[in-house]
Amino acid sequence: ADEARIALDNITDRTSGFFSPTIRLGVTGLSRAGKTVFISALVHNLLHDGRLPLFSAQAEGRIAGSYLQEQPDAAVPRFQYEDHIRTMLEGREWPASTRAISELRLTIDYESASGWSRFFSRGRLAIDIVDYPGEWLLDLPLIDKDFATFSREAIERARTPSRRDMAGPFLALLDATDPAAPADPERAQALHAAFAAYLTACRGDRTALSTLPPGRFLMPGDLEGSPALTFAPLVLDPGKAYSRSSLAGVLERRYEAYKSVVVKPFFREHFARLDRQILLIDALQAINAGPEAVRDLETALTDILACFRPGRASWLGSLLTRRIDRILVAATKADHLHRESHPRLEAIVQRLVNSAIQRARFSRAEVHVLAMAAVRATREATIEDHGDKLPVIVGVPMAGETIAGETFDGRIETAVFPGDLPADPGLVFAERPVDAEAPVNFVRFRPPRLERTAEGLTLSLPHIRLDRALEFLLGDYLA
Ligand code: GDP
Repeated sequence: ADEARIALDNITDRTSGFFSPTIRLGVTGLSRAGKTVFISALVHNLLHDGRLPLFSAQAEGRIAGSYLQEQPDAAVPRFQYEDHIRTMLEGREWPASTRAISELRLTIDYESASGWSRFFSRGRLAIDIVDYPGEWLLDLPLIDKDFATFSREAIERARTPSRRDMAGPFLALLDATDPAAPADPERAQALHAAFAAYLTACRGDRTALSTLPPGRFLMPGDLEGSPALTFAPLVLDPGKAYSRSSLAGVLERRYEAYKSVVVKPFFREHFARLDRQILLIDALQAINAGPEAVRDLETALTDILACFRPGRASWLGSLLTRRIDRILVAATKADHLHRESHPRLEAIVQRLVNSAIQRARFSRAEVHVLAMAAVRATREATIEDHGDKLPVIVGVPMAGETIAGETFDGRIETAVFPGDLPADPGLVFAERPVDAEAPVNFVRFRPPRLERTAEGLTLSLPHIRLDRALEFLLGDYLA
């Protein structure tokens, strides 16, 4: 009887008698894809009774209450929800982006739609939201690669035409380096710094490349400067044995340490415990940067999705005890486009995802695609231009943003013609004429001002299709 009671305690919160399961929701995406904004908006809309007509539990009035609770993992930093919301609502600035893993527990008390018994008709769902940099997922392939293979591939990539310029200083340093020479900490540090600087340059707005392992070189979390992060690829002679004390010997050990003390623990302790996943992508930025960036995003998507479907015999496959059954791939910042372009954005992302799924030979999880804005910073309008009606978006461009030579001060509301995405999604993969303009006028807008109701209540943050995202990720748990 004791065993039975303990088992019951595990699923029943004794203070309430609620049936109380837990779901771990992973939120990821490459840097600046919109993870912080998404989590803040999701929580704010649930805590403040947001307008979520497509989120059935909310729309049907079955949510009795939502609140934040102590998270289960004491060693993981808490997602700084209150700070982020204050920054957005009071400062009308965007919050500080994700730099490392963090977690937040949101609990929902709800009434079941079916309600077949009085005891089980009321439920409590604890949602552990786990925010982590998508860059960290790009490290999974390293597990099976030795230092020589990693070095060869990284250097080959650095020498490709689109990257050669940015990799220039690193490649020059590499030319002047003898991997067989006795290890010199300063040289190791300089190589690492030059390699990391090249990876960071590839992520710039103009190039917007995505596939850049090792992931922690871009997002070190709290490991910056540690030996396990202070390595770089070397030009190695395949037939040669390098001594332990040589530069090659030392960097190889650091590379192996990176895999065993950085990469593996993340997958084991965090990734392997997720139930559902949302993957945010900034497709607009890649589309604007051109076909190279789009193809690169496709490769990154393939690598990321491959983590969710590891082979059974692989290191990660043998580790996973539960499987992620639903993955949402969401193109964020759809508020930068007029509604008419949203289906086009979705079509482009669907195409990216399809080929990634094919290449990752994906089957188990249901993968959905959505164009969304977690926070809607613009509204739509139409303006007349020489008798033509132009669909525009209206918002307050951030200070320093420029359109057609005009620089904004962050105070004036402005109508922007956002441009058109191509109707044929294939076109974003095709070379553009050298002098062609980017398809979308991408201006960063300030977060919206929140209206107040007649009673003086602040409304929740406006969004585009955040409710559809919630329905896909959580709806069945609250049914
Ligand atoms: P993270 O690195 O994935 O955490 O990215 P953030 O959530 O910090 O988002 C990066 C930037 O993208 C923000 O500072 C905003 O400028 C912009 N952004 C993110 N989500 C949205 C959105 O829903 N709408 C708009 N207009 N901008 C967004």
